[in-house]
Amino acid sequence: MRVLDVIDAAIPLSAEERMLVDSVRTLAREKIAPRAEHYDRTAEFPWDNVRDINALGLNAMFIPEAYGGTPMSYAAYLACVREISKACASTGIVWATNFHGIKPLIDFGTEAQKQRLLPRIAQGGLVSLAITEPSAGSDATGMTTRFSPDGDHIVVDGGKTFISNGDVADLFLLFGKWSEIDDAKGAISALIFEKGTPGFSVLRLEDKLGHRAASTAAIAFDGCRVPQANLLGEPGGGLRILLASLNKSRPSIAAHALGIARGAFEDAVEYINTRRQSGRKIIEFQGIQFLLADLATELAQCEAWLWHVARLVDSGEKDFGIEASMAKMRASDLAMRISTEAVQLYGGYGYCKDYRVERLMRDAKITQIWEGTNQIHRQLIGRHFIQK
Ligand SMILES: Cc1cc2nc3c(=O)[nH]c(=O)nc-3n(C[C@H](O)[C@H](O)[C@H](O)COP(=O)(O)OP(=O)(O)OC[C@H]3O[C@@H](n4cnc5c(N)ncnc54)[C@H](O)[C@@H]3O)c2cc1C
Repeated sequence: MRVLDVIDAAIPLSAEERMLVDSVRTLAREKIAPRAEHYDRTAEFPWDNVRDINALGLNAMFIPEAYGGTPMSYAAYLACVREISKACASTGIVWATNFHGIKPLIDFGTEAQKQRLLPRIAQGGLVSLAITEPSAGSDATGMTTRFSPDGDHIVVDGGKTFISNGDVADLFLLFGKWSEIDDAKGAISALIFEKGTPGFSVLRLEDKLGHRAASTAAIAFDGCRVPQANLLGEPGGGLRILLASLNKSRPSIAAHALGIARGAFEDAVEYINTRRQSGRKIIEFQGIQFLLADLATELAQCEAWLWHVARLVDSGEKDFGIEASMAKMRASDLAMRISTEAVQLYGGYGYCKDYRVERLMRDAKITQIWEGTNQIHRQLIGRHFIQK
């Protein structure tokens, strides 16, 4: 894999970050990957993996030092997401969701909110990002969860669907509409919802095609009283927070998808270098080499793009939404393509559970759907080129 190893070696990481990514790779290879089949089969939440990730203190890498973290670059974070996801996509998304949910609190929270809430997450707490509702998916402005001010509190009523970590989270970044503002977009507000608040319930856990160990919950809020102090930004200031948070989480979804793609690619290459038919290794057939050439080239280019986006973020660039959409869209389409081709290259064995490529194919599918479906990303990217 020289071509891909050279790209990996050029990931912009400090010596300390490289050591951390190496430790994560070792953890992923020695502990997380061997458990992946069990977690996929049983659909149990991967608590062992969460404990091992927390033993490395991994949440601390995205929490500022003043609140108990040991911050590292966005590139280092993406590299860790990719390593964990390559070993177990479910565990990868459980961990990445902590970042997706907490980053807006770091970027938009008050000093008091950060002092009170961030140390919990630095120490290994789980987070959810709760946007989607049964009738508000691709168009989040259709959400109906209601935030009604009542003295020092905000009363939350409504429900969210498909919420990753929704049954296990310590904190939720929750979006809803401010009852006193009559505007579909202008009413959207964000608050931090804490575990244990009366009136909260988990309605169901989804039984899914892939990512079977990552919990996906439908949750309900019935008259939940949240302190006004937990409001993020101003009433009605939620859309800006929502869009900014998605910009940072989409490259993370790309890194997660590339973990799946890389795993499927490496497995397939290994297999066709040993499996023989008609007296030759499968890789010696020219038709197979052409396929491999296309997959390898796309993978190399997509990985290089991910690190380009990481460099933009780490250099302080604020306007990288289109680059983030490109990374998410291309990486997730590629994860689906490579994992499907990997199953094909394994022949009948690829269709059976003795090899993990069938799991990778099932895990890949959702990456084209969540964090904005790829149709929506194609619209965002295409629209960007309309001349004003
Ligand atoms: C396993 C899983 C985990 C998830 N985790 C989270 C989470 O943690 N937090 C959270 O808030 N949400 C989460 N989601 C929700 C996810 O982000 C949504 O499912 C996704 O945004 C799509 O919304 P929808 O399912 O309502 O589909 P819809 O919006 O109903 O779309 C249906 C189809 O129509 C297409 N479509 C819609 N609008 C357009 C358009 N304008 N142009 C062209 N095509 C369009 C879509 O691309 C799609 O193919 C998760 C979902 C799943 C399945």
